Amino acid sequence: MSEVSVQTVADAIRAATIELGQGTDTARLDAELLMAEALDCTRSEMFLRRMQDPAPGEYAKLIARRAAHEPVAYIRGYQEFFGLGFRVTSDVLIPRGDSEVLVEAALLARPDARRVLDLGTGSGALLLALLSELPEAEGLGIDRSVAALSVATGNARALGLADRAQLHLGDWTQPGWSDGLGTFDLILANPPYVEDTAELPASVRAFEPAQALFAGPDGLADYRVLLPQLPGLLAPAGIAMVEIGSSQAEAVTALAAQSGLVAALHQDLGGRPRALELKNSLGKLLASP
Ligand code: GLN
Repeated sequence: MSEVSVQTVADAIRAATIELGQGTDTARLDAELLMAEALDCTRSEMFLRRMQDPAPGEYAKLIARRAAHEPVAYIRGYQEFFGLGFRVTSDVLIPRGDSEVLVEAALLARPDARRVLDLGTGSGALLLALLSELPEAEGLGIDRSVAALSVATGNARALGLADRAQLHLGDWTQPGWSDGLGTFDLILANPPYVEDTAELPASVRAFEPAQALFAGPDGLADYRVLLPQLPGLLAPAGIAMVEIGSSQAEAVTALAAQSGLVAALHQDLGGRPRALELKNSLGKLLASP
């Protein structure tokens, strides 16, 4: 249609915002980000210089994907986290702003950390954000997905952190996975914790990797396996900062106590329970005056 071919970038963004409006509360932003992607420029460059250009033909395809609930981060292959840019594919969970509290709380608790472990590293977001703030620290990220590790490895290189970040295949449900790793000052984890039958937005359930999300009927299957292993992986004054679902603080605190770990709760920016800071209770006793 000739009408379509003369549509400007500004017009096309307006039309796409209306089209997406039903399915997403970020319709305008999504429409803008995807246009910048189609134009292969930044959003600010688009606003400054490109609004009256003809809309690129490829835009309609990107909008159709978003209208079918595919997350913007997967369409762009990019997500910002803790002020850093991460490549993301559908092999990794999209880093959430809510998870930044883990990095902030970990930095506050152990600004002196030297050895850092990230369990289920995915895109590498938690580990690489932390290493970017702690120039003396070295990190190990493990994941059971080869495809995820390749995304994390690419991100470590792109962020100039490859010399301090090792990324290894590992599965905490398999005996012996941690043999020879030693102990860590800081352990980060955003393990699967969603109940198998939880109601999730289509953009999450249909597109994000199930093995990064679901953890049995009550969402605690990975915590049951992981928590008993933490005491052996923590250095004497080490802490673990783990992400939880907003209704799981009590249950995970109780499971942690069974493994001799004490827990302190951290909330995300929305004021929801989001992270537990865990340490060996014996370590705590010894450190007391
Ligand atoms: N925060 C994610 C969600 O709510 C879940 C992440 C996880 O299971 N680790 O979709």
